[in-house]
Amino acid sequence: MAMATTSLEPWISGKINGDSAKNLTRTQIENYQLQKLQETLLWAVSNSKFYKQLYSGLACEMGTLKDLLQLPFTTPEDLRQNPLDFLCVSQNEINRIVTLQSSGTTGKPKRLFFTEADQELTIDFFHHGMLTLVKPGDRVLIMLPGGTPGSVGDLLRLGLDRAGITGIVHGLVSNLESTLEQIQENKINALVGIPTQVLSLARFKDSQGRPVPLSLSRVLLSTDYVPLAIAQELEKTWGCKVFNHYGMTEMGLGGGLECEGFCGYHLREADLYLEIIDPRSGLPVEEGQRGEIVLTTLTRRGMPLIRYRTGDLSRFIPEPCVCGTVLKRLELLKSRERVYLTETECLTMADFDEVLFALPKVMDFEVTLTKGGVGKESYLQLRVQLKGSFSLATQNDLSDTLDKISAIRNARQLGQLKVMLLLISSTELIVRKSTAKRQILDKRGSD
Ligand SMILES: [Zn+2]
Repeated sequence: MAMATTSLEPWISGKINGDSAKNLTRTQIENYQLQKLQETLLWAVSNSKFYKQLYSGLACEMGTLKDLLQLPFTTPEDLRQNPLDFLCVSQNEINRIVTLQSSGTTGKPKRLFFTEADQELTIDFFHHGMLTLVKPGDRVLIMLPGGTPGSVGDLLRLGLDRAGITGIVHGLVSNLESTLEQIQENKINALVGIPTQVLSLARFKDSQGRPVPLSLSRVLLSTDYVPLAIAQELEKTWGCKVFNHYGMTEMGLGGGLECEGFCGYHLREADLYLEIIDPRSGLPVEEGQRGEIVLTTLTRRGMPLIRYRTGDLSRFIPEPCVCGTVLKRLELLKSRERVYLTETECLTMADFDEVLFALPKVMDFEVTLTKGGVGKESYLQLRVQLKGSFSLATQNDLSDTLDKISAIRNARQLGQLKVMLLLISSTELIVRKSTAKRQILDKRGSD
């Protein structure tokens, strides 16, 4: 059976060519992006105090997309310092403000502003993007925050509705049994959620030790990078297909979506322009090399972001996708923030996810690094929430499993790292208050 091309392609062709059935080429995409970039720059320097200052004395005329390289970056710190200076419209044209608390630090939160037209772009992306995995008549449970108008769950529901798909906003999961009941009662056949929360649903067993039978054919994982171990277990448990979505609030929530080739996200190329740079030098990497994702919005009016450093690491996959699209393909995100364990060894949350979620007893966990007593020694504290009871053997298993992470194994052998395990047995889920990215808490710098 021929594989369906990503549903993003006809959508983007419709935006660029005015006809979704028309063949789309790279040249058309790039010409369109250049034109939108020119419009965005003009709009930003004419209306935003921040960009007026940032680009003063610089030539903002773009002859090619490469000319963008001459402009300085914008950073999350810029957003924290003075978000209102980014605004290109008056505050009463703003329909939605999203506040992102920075984790772990006492820094100011980030604020992002969206007009109604900006939100419409997101709904449109959800409408057309979701058709990659669900079809009219399907019933989707949205396990993302959705209580307020303009929240991610709300916009997704609106997008699904336009496609003839029923979206039911559930919010984040706090009680597994009640969520599972809702899935059954509402005849849900597709889920959208956060990886660890969806995994907990799949691992749930009733009082007789049986899994709850569900007929789910599609799962979309969002809001966090997705450990491969989680995707594989969901596929096995439910016999479903698991799709990954990449997005951040700064992108207008939606960024890119996997196709049935399951090998990288296709991007919202009519609304976003992404670059990959070397995070140290700030220069573009060679085609296909890994680096930091830099975001430029092409169609946003309220608060356009130009050359915004996301902190996310990935690469463009140069080979064509098996689905046959001309859209670019971004490799699935493997890691968020890197934490240096020793001078040469570093860790990411993804390293822990891959080995720990492969253990069936693990429901969730937290990692904290603190300073050791002597020299360069560090303590790694791992708080693990386990399903059911545990024994000394469980503890030894976990300790051995951590050695599968080479950075940990090496640092332990060199005597530079001590591991402390804290095991918690609980039937209730660690309740997450937000969809904030899970990350390693590095407390070694603070006394
Ligand atoms: Zn594809």
